[in-house]
Amino acid sequence: MHDFLLAKEIIDELKKIVVEKNIKRVKNVSLEIGTISLAHDGHPEHTEDISVENLEFGLKNIAKNTPFEETVLKIKKVKGESWKITEIKV
Ligand SMILES: [Zn+2]
Repeated sequence: MHDFLLAKEIIDELKKIVVEKNIKRVKNVSLEIGTISLAHDGHPEHTEDISVENLEFGLKNIAKNTPFEETVLKIKKVKGESWKITEIKV
């Protein structure tokens, strides 16, 4: 579940960056993903490990008709309770 919620959060963040930097198309995005703490569907905040497979699937779906449609994603699992964009290549 957190995989798909995180996918949306990542695309929203990437959209902000391309607008700020006036980027038309993104070739590569590298991400570091830890466990993700979220509150959703009436549950209080809890952590959940992220499945890279589900995350990639979610990202590909959400990326349709955005500047990230053709973007190659590199996802690295890391320890810790957060995620970050480590590199964007245009
Ligand atoms: Zn959850």
